[in-house]
Amino acid sequence: MFSKLRNYITENTGILIRLDDVAENMNWDLMEKLELIFEKYKIKPVLGVIPNNKDDELLSYPKKNDFWKQVRIWKNKGWEITMHGSTHVYDKICKKNDYFGHGGGSEFCGHTLETQISRIKSGLQKFKDEKIKIRSFFAPNHTYDKNTFTALKNFGITEIIDGYGLMPYTENNIKFIPQLFYKVFLLPFGIQATQIHLNYWQQKDFDIFEKFIIKNANRIITYDQALKKINNNIFYKLIKNLFSGVLKLKRILKN
Ligand SMILES: [Zn+2]
Repeated sequence: MFSKLRNYITENTGILIRLDDVAENMNWDLMEKLELIFEKYKIKPVLGVIPNNKDDELLSYPKKNDFWKQVRIWKNKGWEITMHGSTHVYDKICKKNDYFGHGGGSEFCGHTLETQISRIKSGLQKFKDEKIKIRSFFAPNHTYDKNTFTALKNFGITEIIDGYGLMPYTENNIKFIPQLFYKVFLLPFGIQATQIHLNYWQQKDFDIFEKFIIKNANRIITYDQALKKINNNIFYKLIKNLFSGVLKLKRILKN
């Protein structure tokens, strides 16, 4: 009985390393260091690549001219390349009416379906031009609405690395892999994705990350492994709703 439970917990506990804001302009010194860590510990991360980056803040970082060649190299290593917005420019503010009740700036939420379709289309076109096949997405600042999902489905994208809960799940015919914490953190149970904003890292963040990796090496999973853990069991649905309720309440109280 206990060994069965222990096995269940082991099989359903894992963390997917998701890197945000990978673009032509970024902190390449830190990216090269992080790549070495991924290689050393045989990690296959998910890279959230911004196809048409026009975000002023991100554009202030050094530019890599052979960026897309580099993306293809990463992809050939078996790293998952996912689309992170199109331009990463926020031109709408969500008043917590976005799908996850996150609030704040948005490139997608609040725009018409036509606008969202055209943004997804131009993002995907860039990947196509660069011969990189895309199957998943996550929006800048976690802000989506129903139109975002419709626009994505219009192009056959049905996987999103975002959301609440303990386990990956399906909702609105989209597969979600939850992303709960700002810090790299492993829950004692469940499947989660991290969010790493490398541009803001310092040496101490590398040290913390490397220690985390060493300690949890057998818990780091790949994107495909995370997808295989989709579980639409009512128990997990309840937990997800609880998580989302608590987090929304926390955000309301904070403001
Ligand atoms: Zn971002």
